[in-house]
Amino acid sequence: MYYAWVVFFHSINLATLILLLTQHYGWALAIFFLPAPWYMIQIMKASARALGPAITRFATQRREVWLTIDDGPDPASTPKILAQLEARGAHATFFLIGNKVQRHPELVAEILRHGHTIGNHTQSHPCSWFWIASAKKTAEEIDTCAQTLRAAGAGNTPLFRPPVGLKNHALHQQLAQRSLDLVLWSARGFDAVTHNPAKVLARITADLQPGAIILIHEKSSVTAGEKELLPALLDHLAREDYRSVIPPAEALLREI
Ligand SMILES: [Zn+2]
Repeated sequence: MYYAWVVFFHSINLATLILLLTQHYGWALAIFFLPAPWYMIQIMKASARALGPAITRFATQRREVWLTIDDGPDPASTPKILAQLEARGAHATFFLIGNKVQRHPELVAEILRHGHTIGNHTQSHPCSWFWIASAKKTAEEIDTCAQTLRAAGAGNTPLFRPPVGLKNHALHQQLAQRSLDLVLWSARGFDAVTHNPAKVLARITADLQPGAIILIHEKSSVTAGEKELLPALLDHLAREDYRSVIPPAEALLREI
């Protein structure tokens, strides 16, 4: 089921071959290159699920959202973020990078002590090549981070988020073998690339609804910078009567 696209690509190749052999060169070229943009969308877009299931929202009857914070831990930002969450009674899930956990394992205990949860965000956060990674490399990134998190006292997290949310051809099978859920998002403000907190906040709030999964980054200049995105976001949630919660596993919508 997850690999329907493999059959699809073989069909494309076969069709191209037949068109070449029957000297329909223009059609052969068009048929061959047409699927490339489609495949890139499947890899890059959170809501594209032809490669396999992904969680981009959760089921709730209340005004609740799930705040997810990527790319920590870091002594320059994690304690500050924990204090900001605590001040507003908000809970979040931190998708941590294994290499950073190895440098600051004590921050894992701090995150857990404050009642938050932790997800696997790969060992080295290979955003430039994860989308073309082999099954072996994909497994290595997942397993090394899982070991690092266990060694730091985080236990076995059932949650995984790839770097920049990029999927690859092997990812879903590797996750299924490990009973890991692919958690993406439904609301993000591109805080890693936009340096204007108001713009980032406006993008996030435009997509707010009960069951939304919000993505922000620990080290982006708007999160940890002077103007600070997180307090503004938490204030906005409070004004709109939203609670920032960690949804139970059974509420996660594994959509295909
Ligand atoms: Zn990341």
